[in-house]
Amino acid sequence: MMIANIKTINDFDFKNKIALVRVDFNVPIKINEKMKCEIMDDTRILLSLPTINKIISDNGKIIIITHIGRPKGIRSENLSTRFLVPFLSKKLKVSVKFSENCIGKTVENEISLLKNREILLLENIRFYKEEENDDKNFSFNLSKLGDIYVNDAFAVSHRLHASVHTTPKFFNKKKCIGFLMKKEIHSLKKILGKGEKPITILLGGAKISSKIAIIENLINKVDNILIGGGMAYPFIKAKGGEVGDSLIKNECKYVEKTITNILNYLKFKEKRTKIFFPEDVIITTMNHNHHSNSSPKNIKIVPIHSIPFGWVGLDIGPSTIKTFCKKIKKSKTILWNGPLGVFEKKDFSLGTKSIAKTIIETTKEGSFSLIGGGDTIASLKNIKKRKTDISYLSTGGGAMLEFLKNKIIPGIKSISLE
Ligand code: AMP
Repeated sequence: MMIANIKTINDFDFKNKIALVRVDFNVPIKINEKMKCEIMDDTRILLSLPTINKIISDNGKIIIITHIGRPKGIRSENLSTRFLVPFLSKKLKVSVKFSENCIGKTVENEISLLKNREILLLENIRFYKEEENDDKNFSFNLSKLGDIYVNDAFAVSHRLHASVHTTPKFFNKKKCIGFLMKKEIHSLKKILGKGEKPITILLGGAKISSKIAIIENLINKVDNILIGGGMAYPFIKAKGGEVGDSLIKNECKYVEKTITNILNYLKFKEKRTKIFFPEDVIITTMNHNHHSNSSPKNIKIVPIHSIPFGWVGLDIGPSTIKTFCKKIKKSKTILWNGPLGVFEKKDFSLGTKSIAKTIIETTKEGSFSLIGGGDTIASLKNIKKRKTDISYLSTGGGAMLEFLKNKIIPGIKSISLE
């Protein structure tokens, strides 16, 4: 993917300047017994701190924009960004002020009182319906607040939202990406064929419609594509296999057509990319609620193309684990998105666990690994490994998938100086 002319935060000196920084601090929160907001996982915030610290050390002023949750244009005390003030001042060791608004005279006054090295955190940007509507006036009013615009919110950069899409357009050349955004782009480019070969992509999970375009785009760019989880069954069915009552989410004509195209591609002898489907799967009977905690009585291992009626495939089997892990071990660049089975349930978690362990081992031996998607990252918790055992954990599930479809996502496009 060509990204024309993008400035990064290191291209600017923020001394005496006001930086308008869009971050994604949409972290999971819990209201505790004292009715205080508790941050359950601060990863996303920590990853954007280097960007903010660079502006502080330059002696600049910082306005932080973020959203929390999905308030859909309505103010709600539970989704206020105010809880971030003590957390940020503790981590950054500077004064962090809070504004109840995002645009207008009050915020402008608050900014005029801001000193160098001070931060003004704005209220949840999604309290304004104009944000998700990508409203031009709202974007302009937002742009008036700062001198230099910084996008470090990778996880929302695939959205056509005002603060990532239209606001930066009012900054002429005074706009850039932050360190987190730079790292995301750099890592994802390795998957798009720039990384060391062999490159292997592993796709699983349930939502085939959000991932199938990646296969289409990366065919001929990577060496292996391994398909597992719920993603596999529509392919097996299209090949004439019996998949019983396993998950089939074709949803739209586009998915069906792409499946046919991919299967046709596999008929070419001189094809560059090898695509692998599971050989065997773990199945159980339909009447068991596979999201309950008890173990189902009926569990069998069968070839993926002969699942009886009334049975569902919920994990990859032992032969598939062996084949997939062998491919991963031989790879120098690995991307993983989507669990290989219903990993939330112990009986169907072995496939996902084994893959995660193998990716970690291969990373230790010097390969580059990138993992993205909330579920996939959560599945790492099951094997009690440190997140640093993976070369790069992407903060954006949707944004990462869009990027891999070879799309210049709106948040990046608006920064480029064409
Ligand atoms: P996604 O958001 O597309 O990555 O999907 C993640 C979800 O896919 C997880 O909650 C898994 O339980 C689910 N999943 C993975 N494999 C299967 C399968 N064989 N059948 C049904 N659901 C699955």
